[in-house]
Amino acid sequence: MVVVDALRAGYEVFLSIDLKPGMTEEEVHARLQREFEAHPHQQLSTLLQGWVPATLADVLAGLSPIEPERRVHRIRADERADLVRLLKDFRWTLTGSLPIAAGMVTAGGVSLKEVDPVTFESRKVRGLYIVGELLDLAADTGGFNLQAAFSTGYLAGAAAALPGT
Ligand SMILES: Cc1cc2nc3c(=O)[nH]c(=O)nc-3n(C[C@H](O)[C@H](O)[C@H](O)COP(=O)(O)OP(=O)(O)OC[C@H]3O[C@@H](n4cnc5c(N)ncnc54)[C@H](O)[C@@H]3O)c2cc1C
Repeated sequence: MVVVDALRAGYEVFLSIDLKPGMTEEEVHARLQREFEAHPHQQLSTLLQGWVPATLADVLAGLSPIEPERRVHRIRADERADLVRLLKDFRWTLTGSLPIAAGMVTAGGVSLKEVDPVTFESRKVRGLYIVGELLDLAADTGGFNLQAAFSTGYLAGAAAALPGT
């Protein structure tokens, strides 16, 4: 199910970002502990600047329940576990999508089952060819949708111009 459909159906949708994909939770935990011990009087946001860009470090520190002025040696084990979660499972609740005018690709359209996969002629209306955005296909951006539009357009054009080839 695509995100927009899930939101419309009333599901709670969230993104989870792993800010330290090269480390396991245990490794993040251990490294935090080592850094807390090495720099016990540092504030959390300063310490986090060694992990993520400075502006994001401030955001993470603000999201954690730890007061900004607290020194890291006073952070409890359960609070450290919350920090590990923030770094490994940084969650964003999705509340909506951009308006259609800002969309790059539209989900929905004529079902792929309703067209011939070689000529893209409609199975319901002879001589009608359905391609590109009119089809119910939506890929990631990065050229896939353009390629789909070019390829389906080429095949449909060839079939329409030279039926039976
Ligand atoms: C801002 C933006 C960024 C995008 N970036 C990417 C990307 O990075 N990678 C990627 O793969 N895809 C991207 N896409 C999606 C990609 O551009 C489309 O999937 C692709 O162009 C669809 O091609 P199409 O020929 O089906 O439709 P369109 O390109 O929309 O062409 C339809 C044409 O029909 C014309 N038309 C409409 N109604 C009529 C009418 N009644 N009579 C005559 N002509 C009509 C329109 O003017 C338009 O020229 C992006 C789309 C947008 C909007």
